[in-house]
Amino acid sequence: MSIQRTKPYDVIIIGAGSVGTPTAMSLAQAGFRTLVVDSGASVGQGANKRAIGGIRATFSDAAKIRLCLRSLEVFSSWKEQYGDDIEWVKGGYVFVAYREKEEASLKGLVEVQQSLGLNINWLEAGELLKIVPDLNPEGLRGGTFSPDDGNASPLLAQHAFFDHAMAYGAQFRFNEPVVEMIVENEKVVGLKTSQGEYYADVIVNAAGPMARPLAQMVGIDLPVYPDSHEAGITEPVAHFLDPMIVDIRPAPGSSNYYFYQHATGQIVFCITPQPNLWGNDVRETSTFLPMVTRRMVDVMPKLKNIRVRRTWRGLYPMTPDGFPIVGWSKEVKGYLLATGMCGQGFMLGPGVAELVTRLVEDCQTNFDGEILAQLSPYREFQGQETLK
Ligand SMILES: Cc1cc2nc3c(=O)[nH]c(=O)nc-3n(C[C@H](O)[C@H](O)[C@H](O)COP(=O)(O)OP(=O)(O)OC[C@H]3O[C@@H](n4cnc5c(N)ncnc54)[C@H](O)[C@@H]3O)c2cc1C
Repeated sequence: MSIQRTKPYDVIIIGAGSVGTPTAMSLAQAGFRTLVVDSGASVGQGANKRAIGGIRATFSDAAKIRLCLRSLEVFSSWKEQYGDDIEWVKGGYVFVAYREKEEASLKGLVEVQQSLGLNINWLEAGELLKIVPDLNPEGLRGGTFSPDDGNASPLLAQHAFFDHAMAYGAQFRFNEPVVEMIVENEKVVGLKTSQGEYYADVIVNAAGPMARPLAQMVGIDLPVYPDSHEAGITEPVAHFLDPMIVDIRPAPGSSNYYFYQHATGQIVFCITPQPNLWGNDVRETSTFLPMVTRRMVDVMPKLKNIRVRRTWRGLYPMTPDGFPIVGWSKEVKGYLLATGMCGQGFMLGPGVAELVTRLVEDCQTNFDGEILAQLSPYREFQGQETLK
Protein backbone atom coordinates (compact mmCIF):
# COMPACT_ATOMS: atom_id res chain seq x y z
CA MET A 1 0.00 0.00 0.00
CA SER A 2 1.59 3.26 -0.99
CA ILE A 3 0.96 6.16 1.34
CA GLN A 4 0.46 9.41 -0.61
CA ARG A 5 1.03 11.79 2.33
CA THR A 6 -1.50 14.19 0.84
CA LYS A 7 -3.97 13.77 3.71
CA PRO A 8 -3.70 14.90 7.35
CA TYR A 9 -3.10 11.30 8.52
CA ASP A 10 -1.51 8.24 6.94
CA VAL A 11 -3.58 5.80 8.97
CA ILE A 12 -6.75 6.05 11.07
CA ILE A 13 -7.46 3.16 13.44
CA ILE A 14 -11.04 2.57 14.58
CA GLY A 15 -10.83 1.22 18.14
CA ALA A 16 -8.39 1.86 20.98
CA GLY A 17 -8.56 -1.68 22.32
CA SER A 18 -6.35 -4.75 22.66
CA VAL A 19 -5.44 -4.50 18.98
CA GLY A 20 -5.87 -0.83 18.07
CA THR A 21 -3.68 0.65 20.79
CA PRO A 22 -0.54 -1.47 20.24
CA THR A 23 -1.12 -1.02 16.50
CA ALA A 24 -1.11 2.77 16.96
CA MET A 25 2.17 2.48 18.82
CA SER A 26 3.74 0.26 16.18
CA LEU A 27 2.58 2.45 13.26
CA ALA A 28 3.65 5.70 14.94
CA GLN A 29 7.02 4.17 15.80
CA ALA A 30 7.42 3.27 12.11
CA GLY A 31 6.83 6.93 11.24
CA PHE A 32 3.19 6.84 10.10
CA ARG A 33 0.99 9.78 11.08
CA THR A 34 -1.58 7.86 13.05
CA LEU A 35 -4.97 8.78 14.51
CA VAL A 36 -7.08 6.48 16.70
CA VAL A 37 -10.79 7.12 17.22
CA ASP A 38 -12.83 5.35 19.87
CA SER A 39 -16.37 5.70 21.16
CA GLY A 40 -15.17 5.01 24.71
CA ALA A 41 -13.86 7.57 27.18
CA SER A 42 -10.33 6.15 27.27
CA VAL A 43 -8.23 3.24 26.02
CA GLY A 44 -9.24 -0.36 26.64
CA GLN A 45 -12.88 0.24 27.56
CA GLY A 46 -14.25 -2.45 25.21
CA ALA A 47 -13.38 -6.14 25.45
CA ASN A 48 -9.83 -5.36 26.57
CA LYS A 49 -10.62 -4.55 30.19
CA ARG A 50 -12.77 -7.69 30.51
CA ALA A 51 -9.87 -10.01 29.61
CA ILE A 52 -8.29 -11.97 32.45
CA GLY A 53 -4.75 -11.43 31.18
CA GLY A 54 -3.73 -14.87 29.95
CA ILE A 55 -0.93 -14.85 27.35
CA ARG A 56 0.11 -18.03 25.57
CA ALA A 57 1.43 -19.24 22.26
CA THR A 58 0.03 -22.75 22.73
CA PHE A 59 -2.37 -23.00 19.81
CA SER A 60 -3.01 -25.57 17.14
CA ASP A 61 -2.07 -23.56 14.04
CA ALA A 62 0.91 -21.63 12.77
CA ALA A 63 -0.66 -18.15 12.49
CA LYS A 64 -1.70 -17.77 16.11
CA ILE A 65 1.43 -19.54 17.36
CA ARG A 66 3.76 -17.23 15.44
CA LEU A 67 1.87 -14.04 16.31
CA CYS A 68 1.67 -14.95 20.00
CA LEU A 69 5.32 -15.98 20.15
CA ARG A 70 6.11 -12.43 19.07
CA SER A 71 3.58 -11.03 21.58
CA LEU A 72 5.23 -13.05 24.34
CA GLU A 73 8.57 -11.45 23.47
CA VAL A 74 6.96 -8.01 23.69
CA PHE A 75 5.10 -8.58 26.97
CA SER A 76 7.93 -10.41 28.71
CA SER A 77 10.56 -7.79 27.84
CA TRP A 78 8.34 -4.74 28.26
CA LYS A 79 9.54 -3.60 31.66
CA GLU A 80 13.17 -3.98 30.67
CA GLN A 81 12.65 -2.16 27.37
CA TYR A 82 10.18 0.57 28.29
CA GLY A 83 10.23 0.71 32.09
CA ASP A 84 6.48 0.27 32.74
CA ASP A 85 5.25 -2.45 35.06
CA ILE A 86 2.49 -4.32 33.20
CA GLU A 87 2.43 -7.11 35.86
CA TRP A 88 3.99 -9.66 33.49
CA VAL A 89 4.42 -13.05 35.20
CA LYS A 90 5.95 -16.03 33.44
CA GLY A 91 3.82 -18.70 35.12
CA GLY A 92 3.34 -21.02 32.14
CA TYR A 93 0.20 -22.83 30.95
CA VAL A 94 -0.91 -26.37 31.79
CA PHE A 95 -3.58 -28.13 29.72
CA VAL A 96 -4.72 -31.08 31.85
CA ALA A 97 -5.98 -34.45 30.57
CA TYR A 98 -8.27 -36.67 32.63
CA ARG A 99 -9.54 -38.73 29.70
CA GLU A 100 -7.93 -40.61 26.86
CA LYS A 101 -9.59 -38.27 24.34
CA GLU A 102 -7.94 -35.09 25.66
CA GLU A 103 -4.63 -36.92 26.19
CA ALA A 104 -4.57 -38.00 22.53
CA SER A 105 -5.58 -34.58 21.28
CA LEU A 106 -3.01 -32.68 23.39
CA LYS A 107 -0.20 -35.14 22.60
CA GLY A 108 -1.03 -34.87 18.90
CA LEU A 109 -0.68 -31.09 19.04
CA VAL A 110 2.63 -31.08 20.92
CA GLU A 111 4.49 -32.25 17.82
CA VAL A 112 3.09 -29.43 15.68
CA GLN A 113 3.69 -26.92 18.46
CA GLN A 114 7.29 -27.99 18.96
CA SER A 115 7.95 -27.91 15.21
CA LEU A 116 6.85 -24.25 15.24
CA GLY A 117 9.32 -23.39 17.98
CA LEU A 118 7.15 -23.66 21.09
CA ASN A 119 8.70 -24.65 24.38
CA ILE A 120 6.05 -27.23 25.33
CA ASN A 121 6.11 -30.83 26.54
CA TRP A 122 3.71 -33.56 27.51
CA LEU A 123 4.18 -34.51 31.18
CA GLU A 124 2.90 -37.72 32.73
CA ALA A 125 0.68 -37.32 35.82
CA GLY A 126 3.52 -37.73 38.34
CA GLU A 127 5.68 -35.08 36.69
CA LEU A 128 2.75 -32.71 36.27
CA LEU A 129 1.88 -32.98 39.96
CA LYS A 130 5.37 -31.74 40.79
CA ILE A 131 4.56 -28.52 38.92
CA VAL A 132 0.95 -28.23 40.13
CA PRO A 133 0.76 -30.26 43.37
CA ASP A 134 -2.85 -29.26 44.04
CA LEU A 135 -4.32 -30.82 40.90
CA ASN A 136 -6.79 -33.60 41.64
CA PRO A 137 -4.62 -36.72 41.14
CA GLU A 138 -7.61 -39.02 40.69
CA GLY A 139 -7.83 -40.01 37.04
CA LEU A 140 -5.14 -37.50 36.02
CA ARG A 141 -3.36 -38.84 32.93
CA GLY A 142 -0.96 -35.92 32.49
CA GLY A 143 -0.93 -32.69 30.55
CA THR A 144 1.06 -30.24 28.50
CA PHE A 145 3.27 -27.65 30.16
CA SER A 146 4.52 -24.56 28.34
CA PRO A 147 6.68 -22.67 30.85
CA ASP A 148 7.25 -19.55 28.70
CA ASP A 149 3.57 -18.54 28.63
CA GLY A 150 2.23 -16.24 31.33
CA ASN A 151 -0.07 -13.37 32.20
CA ALA A 152 -0.11 -9.59 32.45
CA SER A 153 -2.59 -6.83 33.20
CA PRO A 154 -4.71 -5.88 30.16
CA LEU A 155 -5.32 -2.39 31.54
CA LEU A 156 -1.73 -1.65 32.52
CA ALA A 157 -0.54 -2.99 29.16
CA GLN A 158 -3.11 -0.83 27.30
CA HIS A 159 -1.97 2.28 29.13
CA ALA A 160 1.66 1.44 28.44
CA PHE A 161 0.92 1.01 24.70
CA PHE A 162 -1.10 4.26 24.81
CA ASP A 163 1.65 6.30 26.50
CA HIS A 164 4.30 5.09 24.07
CA ALA A 165 2.00 5.52 21.06
CA MET A 166 1.50 9.16 22.11
CA ALA A 167 5.23 9.59 22.66
CA TYR A 168 5.83 8.37 19.10
CA GLY A 169 3.32 10.93 17.86
CA ALA A 170 0.04 9.00 17.53
CA GLN A 171 -3.12 10.98 18.29
CA PHE A 172 -6.22 9.64 20.04
CA ARG A 173 -9.78 10.95 19.99
CA PHE A 174 -12.13 9.51 22.61
CA ASN A 175 -15.92 9.71 23.00
CA GLU A 176 -16.16 9.77 19.19
CA PRO A 177 -18.15 6.88 17.72
CA VAL A 178 -17.53 6.37 14.01
CA VAL A 179 -20.84 6.90 12.21
CA GLU A 180 -19.91 6.86 8.53
CA MET A 181 -17.05 5.97 6.20
CA ILE A 182 -16.04 8.31 3.39
CA VAL A 183 -15.42 6.32 0.18
CA GLU A 184 -14.44 7.81 -3.20
CA ASN A 185 -13.97 5.72 -6.34
CA GLU A 186 -13.98 2.45 -4.35
CA LYS A 187 -11.26 3.76 -2.05
CA VAL A 188 -11.74 4.68 1.57
CA VAL A 189 -10.43 8.20 2.16
CA GLY A 190 -11.71 9.05 5.63
CA LEU A 191 -14.45 8.71 8.19
CA LYS A 192 -17.04 10.70 10.09
CA THR A 193 -17.45 10.51 13.85
CA SER A 194 -20.02 12.20 16.07
CA GLN A 195 -17.58 15.14 16.26
CA GLY A 196 -16.06 15.59 12.82
CA GLU A 197 -14.41 14.24 9.68
CA TYR A 198 -10.89 12.80 9.45
CA TYR A 199 -8.95 11.84 6.33
CA ALA A 200 -6.21 9.26 5.75
CA ASP A 201 -4.87 6.83 3.12
CA VAL A 202 -5.55 3.78 5.27
CA ILE A 203 -8.38 2.99 7.68
CA VAL A 204 -7.90 0.04 10.05
CA ASN A 205 -11.01 -1.63 11.44
CA ALA A 206 -9.93 -2.73 14.93
CA ALA A 207 -13.38 -2.34 16.47
CA GLY A 208 -13.38 -5.81 18.07
CA PRO A 209 -16.88 -7.15 18.77
CA MET A 210 -18.34 -4.14 16.89
CA ALA A 211 -16.24 -4.72 13.75
CA ARG A 212 -19.17 -6.06 11.72
CA PRO A 213 -21.41 -2.95 11.81
CA LEU A 214 -18.30 -0.86 11.03
CA ALA A 215 -17.49 -3.04 8.01
CA GLN A 216 -21.11 -2.78 6.84
CA MET A 217 -20.50 0.98 6.48
CA VAL A 218 -18.26 0.14 3.49
CA GLY A 219 -20.53 -2.63 2.24
CA ILE A 220 -18.55 -5.60 3.62
CA ASP A 221 -20.34 -8.38 5.48
CA LEU A 222 -17.67 -9.39 7.98
CA PRO A 223 -18.27 -12.60 9.95
CA VAL A 224 -17.40 -11.22 13.40
CA TYR A 225 -20.09 -11.77 16.02
CA PRO A 226 -20.21 -10.60 19.64
CA ASP A 227 -20.15 -13.68 21.87
CA SER A 228 -20.47 -13.10 25.61
CA HIS A 229 -18.20 -14.68 28.20
CA GLU A 230 -18.04 -14.31 31.96
CA ALA A 231 -15.11 -14.20 34.34
CA GLY A 232 -14.60 -13.97 38.07
CA ILE A 233 -12.03 -13.22 40.75
CA THR A 234 -11.65 -14.52 44.30
CA GLU A 235 -10.24 -13.06 47.47
CA PRO A 236 -6.42 -13.12 47.63
CA VAL A 237 -4.75 -16.11 49.26
CA ALA A 238 -1.12 -17.13 49.82
CA HIS A 239 0.71 -18.08 46.64
CA PHE A 240 0.27 -21.77 45.70
CA LEU A 241 -0.21 -21.90 41.90
CA ASP A 242 2.09 -20.83 39.07
CA PRO A 243 0.59 -21.79 35.67
CA MET A 244 -2.78 -21.09 34.08
CA ILE A 245 -4.76 -24.34 34.31
CA VAL A 246 -6.90 -25.18 31.27
CA ASP A 247 -9.34 -28.07 31.15
CA ILE A 248 -10.70 -28.66 27.64
CA ARG A 249 -13.18 -31.40 28.60
CA PRO A 250 -16.72 -30.44 27.66
CA ALA A 251 -19.47 -30.67 30.30
CA PRO A 252 -23.18 -29.76 30.25
CA GLY A 253 -23.41 -26.02 29.52
CA SER A 254 -19.73 -25.43 28.90
CA SER A 255 -16.70 -26.49 26.91
CA ASN A 256 -13.35 -25.50 28.42
CA TYR A 257 -12.60 -23.44 31.52
CA TYR A 258 -9.36 -21.96 32.85
CA PHE A 259 -7.93 -20.22 35.89
CA TYR A 260 -4.68 -18.93 37.36
CA GLN A 261 -3.46 -17.24 40.49
CA HIS A 262 -2.64 -13.60 40.00
CA ALA A 263 0.62 -12.24 41.43
CA THR A 264 -1.43 -10.51 44.14
CA GLY A 265 -3.00 -13.83 45.26
CA GLN A 266 -6.47 -13.86 43.71
CA ILE A 267 -7.68 -16.71 41.51
CA VAL A 268 -9.00 -15.34 38.20
CA PHE A 269 -11.21 -17.64 36.14
CA CYS A 270 -13.34 -18.02 33.01
CA ILE A 271 -15.49 -20.61 31.29
CA THR A 272 -16.59 -21.04 27.68
CA PRO A 273 -20.37 -21.46 27.53
CA GLN A 274 -21.72 -24.16 25.24
CA PRO A 275 -23.69 -23.25 23.17
CA ASN A 276 -22.28 -19.76 22.60
CA LEU A 277 -24.17 -16.80 24.08
CA TRP A 278 -24.46 -14.52 21.06
CA GLY A 279 -25.27 -10.83 21.42
CA ASN A 280 -24.20 -7.68 23.20
CA ASP A 281 -25.58 -8.43 26.66
CA VAL A 282 -22.89 -7.86 29.31
CA ARG A 283 -25.06 -8.32 32.41
CA GLU A 284 -23.72 -11.05 34.71
CA THR A 285 -25.76 -14.26 34.87
CA SER A 286 -26.68 -16.46 37.83
CA THR A 287 -25.63 -19.60 35.95
CA PHE A 288 -21.94 -18.77 35.48
CA LEU A 289 -20.66 -19.09 39.03
CA PRO A 290 -22.22 -22.46 40.00
CA MET A 291 -21.14 -23.90 36.65
CA VAL A 292 -17.52 -22.80 36.71
CA THR A 293 -16.80 -23.24 40.43
CA ARG A 294 -18.02 -26.84 40.44
CA ARG A 295 -15.64 -27.64 37.61
CA MET A 296 -12.74 -25.81 39.22
CA VAL A 297 -13.18 -27.58 42.57
CA ASP A 298 -13.36 -30.89 40.71
CA VAL A 299 -9.94 -30.35 39.13
CA MET A 300 -8.44 -28.58 42.18
CA PRO A 301 -10.29 -29.57 45.40
CA LYS A 302 -8.25 -27.10 47.44
CA LEU A 303 -10.27 -24.25 45.91
CA LYS A 304 -13.49 -25.25 47.67
CA ASN A 305 -13.15 -22.78 50.56
CA ILE A 306 -11.95 -19.76 48.66
CA ARG A 307 -14.46 -16.89 48.39
CA VAL A 308 -15.40 -15.24 45.13
CA ARG A 309 -15.30 -11.45 45.21
CA ARG A 310 -16.68 -10.37 41.85
CA THR A 311 -17.80 -11.58 38.44
CA TRP A 312 -18.12 -9.70 35.14
CA ARG A 313 -19.08 -10.33 31.55
CA GLY A 314 -17.65 -9.15 28.26
CA LEU A 315 -17.71 -9.86 24.55
CA TYR A 316 -15.42 -11.92 22.36
CA PRO A 317 -15.20 -10.76 18.73
CA MET A 318 -15.94 -14.27 17.46
CA THR A 319 -15.40 -15.71 13.97
CA PRO A 320 -16.94 -18.94 12.65
CA ASP A 321 -13.62 -20.84 12.73
CA GLY A 322 -12.00 -19.27 15.79
CA PHE A 323 -9.24 -17.51 13.84
CA PRO A 324 -8.74 -13.73 13.61
CA ILE A 325 -9.34 -11.76 10.42
CA VAL A 326 -6.34 -9.73 9.29
CA GLY A 327 -5.85 -8.38 5.78
CA TRP A 328 -6.78 -5.80 3.16
CA SER A 329 -10.29 -5.50 1.83
CA LYS A 330 -10.53 -6.40 -1.86
CA GLU A 331 -13.75 -4.43 -2.29
CA VAL A 332 -12.60 -1.10 -0.85
CA LYS A 333 -9.02 0.06 -1.34
CA GLY A 334 -7.18 1.26 1.75
CA TYR A 335 -9.46 -0.60 4.17
CA LEU A 336 -7.55 -2.96 6.47
CA LEU A 337 -9.17 -5.50 8.80
CA ALA A 338 -7.60 -6.40 12.14
CA THR A 339 -10.37 -8.00 14.10
CA GLY A 340 -12.10 -11.27 15.05
CA MET A 341 -9.55 -12.00 17.79
CA CYS A 342 -12.05 -14.29 19.59
CA GLY A 343 -10.86 -15.06 23.13
CA GLN A 344 -7.23 -14.09 22.51
CA GLY A 345 -7.13 -10.45 21.46
CA PHE A 346 -5.08 -9.31 24.41
CA MET A 347 -2.33 -11.85 23.77
CA LEU A 348 -2.49 -11.41 19.98
CA GLY A 349 -2.38 -7.60 20.19
CA PRO A 350 1.36 -6.83 19.90
CA GLY A 351 1.96 -9.53 17.25
CA VAL A 352 -1.00 -8.34 15.16
CA ALA A 353 0.09 -4.71 15.62
CA GLU A 354 3.44 -5.40 13.97
CA LEU A 355 1.81 -7.46 11.21
CA VAL A 356 -0.57 -4.57 10.42
CA THR A 357 2.40 -2.20 10.31
CA ARG A 358 4.21 -4.47 7.86
CA LEU A 359 1.06 -4.55 5.69
CA VAL A 360 0.92 -0.75 5.65
CA GLU A 361 4.66 -0.60 4.92
CA ASP A 362 4.19 -3.26 2.26
CA CYS A 363 7.18 -5.11 3.59
CA GLN A 364 6.59 -8.64 4.77
CA THR A 365 8.67 -11.23 6.56
CA ASN A 366 9.10 -14.89 5.58
CA PHE A 367 6.21 -16.13 7.69
CA ASP A 368 3.73 -13.37 6.88
CA GLY A 369 2.44 -15.05 3.73
CA GLU A 370 1.42 -18.16 5.66
CA ILE A 371 -0.08 -16.13 8.52
CA LEU A 372 -2.05 -13.86 6.20
CA ALA A 373 -3.39 -16.83 4.22
CA GLN A 374 -4.69 -18.42 7.44
CA LEU A 375 -6.21 -15.14 8.65
CA SER A 376 -7.50 -13.96 5.26
CA PRO A 377 -10.90 -12.22 5.23
CA TYR A 378 -11.61 -14.30 2.11
CA ARG A 379 -10.93 -17.78 3.53
CA GLU A 380 -13.65 -20.43 3.69
CA PHE A 381 -14.24 -20.11 7.47
CA GLN A 382 -14.53 -23.86 7.76
CA GLY A 383 -12.84 -26.05 10.38
CA GLN A 384 -12.02 -25.00 13.93
CA GLU A 385 -8.97 -23.92 15.85
CA THR A 386 -8.57 -26.73 18.38
CA LEU A 387 -7.32 -24.69 21.34
CA LYS A 388 -9.40 -21.54 20.79
C1 LIG B 1 -14.28 -12.63 30.16
C2 LIG B 1 -13.21 -12.47 29.12
C3 LIG B 1 -11.94 -12.99 29.35
C4 LIG B 1 -10.92 -12.86 28.39
N1 LIG B 1 -9.67 -13.32 28.69
C5 LIG B 1 -8.67 -13.14 27.76
C6 LIG B 1 -7.34 -13.55 28.06
O1 LIG B 1 -7.06 -14.07 29.14
N2 LIG B 1 -6.39 -13.33 27.12
C7 LIG B 1 -6.68 -12.76 25.90
O2 LIG B 1 -5.77 -12.62 25.08
N3 LIG B 1 -7.94 -12.37 25.61
C8 LIG B 1 -8.94 -12.54 26.50
N4 LIG B 1 -10.20 -12.15 26.20
C9 LIG B 1 -10.51 -11.69 24.83
C10 LIG B 1 -10.08 -10.27 24.61
O3 LIG B 1 -10.65 -9.43 25.60
C11 LIG B 1 -10.54 -9.82 23.22
O4 LIG B 1 -10.20 -10.77 22.23
C12 LIG B 1 -9.85 -8.51 22.85
O5 LIG B 1 -10.03 -7.55 23.86
C13 LIG B 1 -10.36 -8.00 21.51
O6 LIG B 1 -9.56 -6.90 21.19
P1 LIG B 1 -10.05 -5.85 20.10
O7 LIG B 1 -9.05 -4.75 20.08
O8 LIG B 1 -10.38 -6.55 18.87
O9 LIG B 1 -11.43 -5.29 20.72
P2 LIG B 1 -11.64 -4.25 21.92
O10 LIG B 1 -10.60 -4.37 22.95
O11 LIG B 1 -13.08 -4.37 22.31
O12 LIG B 1 -11.42 -2.85 21.19
C14 LIG B 1 -12.35 -2.39 20.23
C15 LIG B 1 -12.55 -0.91 20.46
O13 LIG B 1 -13.38 -0.41 19.39
C16 LIG B 1 -14.19 0.61 19.92
N5 LIG B 1 -15.36 0.80 19.04
C17 LIG B 1 -16.36 -0.09 18.76
N6 LIG B 1 -17.23 0.46 17.91
C18 LIG B 1 -16.78 1.71 17.63
C19 LIG B 1 -17.26 2.78 16.81
N7 LIG B 1 -18.39 2.70 16.08
N8 LIG B 1 -16.54 3.93 16.78
C20 LIG B 1 -15.39 4.07 17.50
N9 LIG B 1 -14.90 3.09 18.29
C21 LIG B 1 -15.59 1.93 18.35
C22 LIG B 1 -14.57 0.10 21.31
O14 LIG B 1 -14.95 1.17 22.16
C23 LIG B 1 -13.28 -0.60 21.76
O15 LIG B 1 -12.47 0.23 22.58
C24 LIG B 1 -11.21 -12.22 27.17
C25 LIG B 1 -12.49 -11.68 26.93
C26 LIG B 1 -13.48 -11.80 27.90
C27 LIG B 1 -14.83 -11.21 27.63
